[in-house]
Amino acid sequence: MGEILRVVSAQEQIRLSVITAADMVEEARRIHDLSPTASAALGRLMLGASLLGNAMKGEKDTLTLRVNGGGPIGSVVAVSDSKGNVRGYADEPRADLPTRADGKLDVGGLVGRNGTLTVSRDLGLREPYIGSVELVSGEIAEDLTSYLVESEQIPSACGLGVLVGKDRRILAAGGFLVQLLPGASEELIRKIEDNIFMMDQLTTILHEDGPEELVNQVLRGLQPEILAREEVAWRCCCSRDRVAAALKSTGEETLQELADTGKPTEVNCQFCGKQYVFLPEELLSLKTGGRV
Ligand SMILES: [Zn+2]
Repeated sequence: MGEILRVVSAQEQIRLSVITAADMVEEARRIHDLSPTASAALGRLMLGASLLGNAMKGEKDTLTLRVNGGGPIGSVVAVSDSKGNVRGYADEPRADLPTRADGKLDVGGLVGRNGTLTVSRDLGLREPYIGSVELVSGEIAEDLTSYLVESEQIPSACGLGVLVGKDRRILAAGGFLVQLLPGASEELIRKIEDNIFMMDQLTTILHEDGPEELVNQVLRGLQPEILAREEVAWRCCCSRDRVAAALKSTGEETLQELADTGKPTEVNCQFCGKQYVFLPEELLSLKTGGRV
């Protein structure tokens, strides 16, 4: 089980969320057979989605992060519910690159830097609220920070990391998002910047010491108070009804063509791979507005 810690300090002028969720990213790796660098790319995006999703107010709200930087992995998508449970996929899950000169996984290279990060919040209104920014580095955390600062004008800092073992399994995955309320002093902002600059490598902290130590390092000297701990996990919410609705939205002509093949149509959930089968007569029933 992964978890999110919600933390405040400095008379609630600072809000910090810390996530640790190696199992969540390991589940994504297992389902999609992700390469090590793809595990880090999709993993970081899922961790970011979880942190932002967990902060949403409405129980049925969902948040989607999508990056496409023109790199070998193609588009990467992560969706969170309002608790922070996430699902995700990448266009090319097996794409990989050699590690960088400093020994780190080349996430920026795999994602690419020529494109956008799009954040879509579905709050149950007629249209989702959508914002996007140009990618800064394709390393995900920097791009997310840029989105929060530019689009939502919240002073923010974010760090996300995935540690992949030699056998490709996920040893640690997590991160933090720190946000300051409007009016926070320059001194406070500088203190947090210094703390982040000085902190140990994020995945090492999580792997060796746990999320409380991450809280202590980001908010060193600022008397952090942990308000809540909430469990988060990989979760896909696909169902036969949802897949049927998606099929229906392809239009009458497509449904007729699929039915005319005389064979069952197989549809796999792009997030979890689960297969749904529709018989020709069921497709025709969908076409005429029926349920299957
Ligand atoms: Zn699914």
